Amino acid sequence: MSDSVAVALRVRPLVKSEVERGCRIAVQRPVDGIPQVTVNCSDSFTYNYVFDSSDSQQHVYEACVRSKLKKLLHGYNVTILAYGQTGSGKTYTMGTAFDGVMDDNVGVIPRAVHEIFEETAAMEEEFHFKITCSFVELYQEQFYDLFSPNKREDSTVDIREDKNRIVLPGLTEVEVKHAKHVTDQLMRGSSGRAVAATAMNETSSRSHAIFTLTVVTTRKTGQKTVTTSKFSLVDLAGSERCSKTLACGDRFKEGVNINKGLLALGNVINVLGSGQTAGYVPYRQSKLTRLLQDSLGGNSITLMIACVSPADYNVAETLSTLRYADRALQIKNKPVVNMDAHAAEVMMLKDIIQNLRVKLLAC
Ligand code: ADP
Ligand code: MG
Repeated sequence: MSDSVAVALRVRPLVKSEVERGCRIAVQRPVDGIPQVTVNCSDSFTYNYVFDSSDSQQHVYEACVRSKLKKLLHGYNVTILAYGQTGSGKTYTMGTAFDGVMDDNVGVIPRAVHEIFEETAAMEEEFHFKITCSFVELYQEQFYDLFSPNKREDSTVDIREDKNRIVLPGLTEVEVKHAKHVTDQLMRGSSGRAVAATAMNETSSRSHAIFTLTVVTTRKTGQKTVTTSKFSLVDLAGSERCSKTLACGDRFKEGVNINKGLLALGNVINVLGSGQTAGYVPYRQSKLTRLLQDSLGGNSITLMIACVSPADYNVAETLSTLRYADRALQIKNKPVVNMDAHAAEVMMLKDIIQNLRVKLLAC
């Protein structure tokens, strides 16, 4: 099965600073329901989904995320990537903050987590689920474990390839039993990120944050099967060039590193989108692309949510995001069910041993 990367475009409302600046709306969605946007009444782009200021968080979630969860619980890896310039709505859309009240500010992650636990509870008779989560930040080509109990400088982790799988050895995996447990963890990890951000000049808009839920599903009845699937939620760094919002001087290094990840991501998307996948795909150009290897051109079911401002002031960045997202539309993945044959065999052998024990005791 080959499955294209799905792309959703989300145009946020004008924010206060744009209104105060006297900005006008330059990004329009036609009213006839086609998932298309037009910029300055000239350039048009079509995606799988287009959302604008009239679309609620719940609508975004139900339209393009919900159906992917079913796949996750059947053993497929699922990735959601939020891309766009700083302030375009990536974090709002992904929604790491959740205080327990499901109002319309709640984004994709808490909604998905709630539904995953509801679904797994409903499937409990037939399946056993073990769910763990991890949270990493990639800043200046260095991964930081956001769940680590250590100080930030002691919380770095490496990336390696192990039997064709990308792993971050030593990364904290927290087992989670219910939705609130996950959202509490997420808030804790995000606040670690935010504290670091204040100390390091808004690191958060310059770093990538990757939250992963790993679901190990064991079929309890009939033939025992075990699948391990990953739900990766990626809030990418701001895609703007450093000239507009940032003084390049002091932050040159940061700029280079941010660009390194996003630039490499762009290169990977270009190669994969060109359809010439027999050739070399430059995943190894950055840690970001190494980490996302499965999500782009690999075995994952992937959704990119491209976020843009509607303001004329941001048209250059908006057009750059729209083009990037347009290229991502061309990428084909090959989703597969991630069967863990070894774990299934161990389960089967345990069953055999148990049966033999019973027979021995009966003798
Ligand atoms: P980013 O993570 O891309 O830097 P944020 O998610 O922090 O951007 O959004 C910037 C601001 O815009 C925040 O104040 C956020 O609440 C607001 N915002 C973003 N998207 C929306 C939306 N769809 N509806 C209402 N407000 C939004
Ligand atoms: Mg953000």
